[in-house]
Amino acid sequence: MFALALVSIFAFPLLPDRYDPSTPIDLTVKPNFVTPIKLARINRSFPACVNAVRAAGLEVDDHSIASDKPGCGMDRGLALKQARYRYGGGITITCPMMAALAQWELHVVAPAAQKHLGTDVSRVVHFGTYSCRNINGSATGRRSAHATGQALDVGGFWLADGGQVSVLNDWDGSGNKSAFLEEVRDGSCDIFRTVLSPDYNANHKDHFHFEVGGWGICR
Ligand SMILES: [Zn+2]
Repeated sequence: MFALALVSIFAFPLLPDRYDPSTPIDLTVKPNFVTPIKLARINRSFPACVNAVRAAGLEVDDHSIASDKPGCGMDRGLALKQARYRYGGGITITCPMMAALAQWELHVVAPAAQKHLGTDVSRVVHFGTYSCRNINGSATGRRSAHATGQALDVGGFWLADGGQVSVLNDWDGSGNKSAFLEEVRDGSCDIFRTVLSPDYNANHKDHFHFEVGGWGICR
C-alpha cells in the first residue's frame, strides 16, 4: 500500500482521484483496485467515514447504542435519515456499514434493477439492523453481527414502477425478479464481506443478510 502511494505521488501526480490511493474515497465511484485501500482508511477513522457517507448524499445522524449485555451495543454508529432509496426508518448501523450501503444502492441494486426489471428501486424492505441477539436467535452461541450494528437484513424491494420483489416469493424461479435477486446477491459480495441468501440456509429463505465483517461467506 505504501509503495502504491509513493508511486501515485511521484510517478503519476495527475492520477485521477479514483485511482489515487492518497485521496479520500468517493463512494459514488464504481469500486476498483484501489477501493480497498481507501475503505481501510474510513474503517479506521469515524470522521473520515462520516464525511465520505455524507459526500455520497446520505443524510445520517450520530447514533450510538449503549448496552449492559455482553457483546452488544454500538459505539459511534449512525442512524439513516435519507439515502437513494427509502427504508422506512430503523437503519442504525456502524459507519463502515453505512458506507457499504451507499455503494450497494448505487453500484449493485440500481444497475441490477435497470438490467432485469427496466426500472429503479424506490424502497428497500428491511428486516432490521441492530439487535442484541445471538446468531440465528439461538439462546446460546456467538453474538450475531446485528448485536453490534454491523449487519443489515433485506427482505425485498419496492420498484419505481409500482412493482414489488420479495426474497421469499421470488428467489426461486426463472423470471426477471429471480434474475434481479440473484444479481443483487452476487454483486453484494463485492461490497459486503459476508452475504447470506436463501442458498445459505433455511433461516435466510426470506431475506439477505449483509455485513462488512464476518467469515467472508458469499452464498
Ligand atoms: Zn441478519
